[in-house]
Amino acid sequence: MKRKKIVAGNWKMNKTFQEGIQLADAIVTQMPLTDVTVILGTPAIHLKEVGNRVKYFSGIHIAAQNCHAEKRGAFTGEISTEMIDSIGAEYVIIGHSERREYFQETNDLLAKKVDAVLKQGLIPIFCCGESLEIREKNKHKKYVKKQLQEGLFHLKAKKFSKVVIAYEPIWAIGTGVTASPEQAQEMHKFIRKQVADQYSKKVADKTSILYGGSVKPANAKELFGQADVDGGLVGGASLKANDFIEIISAF
Ligand code: PEP
Repeated sequence: MKRKKIVAGNWKMNKTFQEGIQLADAIVTQMPLTDVTVILGTPAIHLKEVGNRVKYFSGIHIAAQNCHAEKRGAFTGEISTEMIDSIGAEYVIIGHSERREYFQETNDLLAKKVDAVLKQGLIPIFCCGESLEIREKNKHKKYVKKQLQEGLFHLKAKKFSKVVIAYEPIWAIGTGVTASPEQAQEMHKFIRKQVADQYSKKVADKTSILYGGSVKPANAKELFGQADVDGGLVGGASLKANDFIEIISAF
């Protein structure tokens, strides 16, 4: 079974609108011929114009970095799945560790956000991953399993089959420390097994599981070469067109 290969950039709260457009244009200009699905997770303000810049490239898509669980209403400052959909974005990053940590997003809330994203016909990129403290106590598998059970496994198989998972060990995000290819493979295999146990091997074999945590040109090839690593969610290195393109080309 061939799974979708994905490289998704997470720009986080970086780049002014003008800088963001320049970055999108540079990525488009250097985009190689590839079967990799490329996703640009831009700040909400940039999404529509970045979408315009990439719209002639069928392999490049745009993602919001967050959404509210409700469709609309009195939630000042928030953006809804309906709004995200209305400007042509197709993906929403859900449950990034920074959202979990700084905005107190719980598994229960994330399950609601996942539902909202799927209901709108968008695709969630569901992030999971443990802190260093949890890994050092050797509880990382149990922890990630709980994140999957509470955030995703309420879905019926048909809905779940739309989901992309990103395994992002918190100790590797923005730290320059990358999980070794073996550590990444071990966790990806574990996650796929959880999906197989919950749904079926067929569903698990079709689920794209991305690795996130200091992916860069120097380590992308080895990471993407692992049997259960289907691509990357890239933070820092997605802010430089050359690095991002090199990562896409690493498959
Ligand atoms: C991320 O923000 O999802 C991420 C993996 O960041 P970085 O690549 O900078 O570690």
